[in-house]
Amino acid sequence: MVQSGPLMRVCVLGSGSSGNCTYIETSRTRLLVDAGFGPRSLSRRLNQAGLPTDRFDALLVTHGHIDHYGGAASFVKRYRVPVFSNRGTRHEVAALQDLDRWEAFQNGVPFTIGDLTVEAFSVSHDCADPVGFRFTENGFCGAVVTDLGEMTPSVEQKLRGCDWMVVESNHDEEMLRLGAYPFRLKQRLSSPMGHLSNRALARFLRDGFDGRARHIFLAHLSRNNNHPDIALETARQGLISRTRQSFHDLWDPVRLHLTDQVKPSIVVNL
Ligand SMILES: [Zn+2]
Ligand SMILES: [Zn+2]
Repeated sequence: MVQSGPLMRVCVLGSGSSGNCTYIETSRTRLLVDAGFGPRSLSRRLNQAGLPTDRFDALLVTHGHIDHYGGAASFVKRYRVPVFSNRGTRHEVAALQDLDRWEAFQNGVPFTIGDLTVEAFSVSHDCADPVGFRFTENGFCGAVVTDLGEMTPSVEQKLRGCDWMVVESNHDEEMLRLGAYPFRLKQRLSSPMGHLSNRALARFLRDGFDGRARHIFLAHLSRNNNHPDIALETARQGLISRTRQSFHDLWDPVRLHLTDQVKPSIVVNL
C-alpha cells in the first residue's frame, strides 16, 4: 500500500508503434495501461520519470497489437498482478491466453481496481475489440484513448468531464500522403479503422472537447509521418479555435504534453 501520494498521477512512459505504456497512480492504486516494453526498458523509463518500481496492482490492455501487449507476460511475472482485457482481445492474443491471472471486463461496464473505477469503451481500430479507458477516483477523472481511426460521438462522450487525457495524434495527413509508405499501408493508417490524424484531433479539440481537462497528452505520434512540432501546433490551433472557451482558460490554460517513443513524458500530478 502507498502511504501517501497524489490524488492522481499520470505519465506516458512511452508511446508509438514500437511500444506503448501509460502509468496511472492514485493514493492506493498503481497500474499500467498497456505494456509495450520489456522489463529493462520499463524499469529505465520508470526511473527516468522518478516513479516507483516496487509494486503494481494491475495491467490493462487496450487491444491486441504487439506494441500494446509485447511486455505483458514479463510484467505480470515480475509483479504478480492480473491482466485485465476484454474477451475479444484475449481471444486474439495467444500471449494473453497463457497468463494465469487474467480478469475479463466488458466494454461499458465499470469495474474497480483498488480505489480506481475503470470503464472500457469501444474505439474504431483494425483488431478484435479495441478499447480506450476512462478512470475515476475521488472526483478526478481521466482517459487514455489511442489507436482509433476516428473520434466518434461515443468516444467524445467518454472524454467529457475528464481532468486529463492521453489522446492519439498519430500523423500529419499531408506527410502521410506524400511519404514513402506503400499505398495500402497509407490507406490502412488513414482509414476509420486506423489511427487518428493531427487534424482529426484538432477537430475534436475545436468542436467536441468540453474544455475541462487542463492536461492533454498527444500520443502515438508516427516517427515517419509526423513531427512533434506539427502535432503540437495543430492541436494548439484546435484549442485556439474552440467554440466553447471556458472561464478557466483565462488563468489556467490547457497544457499540451508531447509523448515520445524512447523516453517518458512529464509526470502530471493532480
Ligand atoms: Zn499502437
Ligand atoms: Zn493498434
